[in-house]
Amino acid sequence: MIYTILDMVSDMLTIRTLGDKVLTQKAKRVANIDDTLRTFCASMVDTMLQSEGIGLAANQVGVLKRIIIVSDEGNILKMINPEIVEFSENKCMMEEGCLSIPETYLPIHRAETIKVKYRDLKGKPHFETYSGLTARIIQHEIDHLDGITMDTL
Ligand SMILES: [Zn+2]
Repeated sequence: MIYTILDMVSDMLTIRTLGDKVLTQKAKRVANIDDTLRTFCASMVDTMLQSEGIGLAANQVGVLKRIIIVSDEGNILKMINPEIVEFSENKCMMEEGCLSIPETYLPIHRAETIKVKYRDLKGKPHFETYSGLTARIIQHEIDHLDGITMDTL
């Protein structure tokens, strides 16, 4: 694969923390999946990895668009307009952290398994089932898109 200069200058984005009102606002759907979006997602991935996070929502870097990055057992999922269409009745509890709420871990109840609809960076639609930690991260990140932070759950 040949990279353009633009691919190589993706910058570390600034992570917004609690008190920033962008974290309480609802993100809007992405209309166009284009090179600008792909470049932004690459910066989100860099920012998440450099911050040693396992998930990141666009709100957390000040962008009110429905985009999340999720670490899925070694893979990194880039989900555009993600939507949970089914939650399992089975719930589990685990302590969660959040890059926007440093050094805070809170026990949160979440569905064990979810079914999610989203588009990838090529615009291809996906409909997948996730469970365990990946399902938890997706639920946490979609909460961010809806202006919900874990301290209010
Ligand atoms: Zn978070």
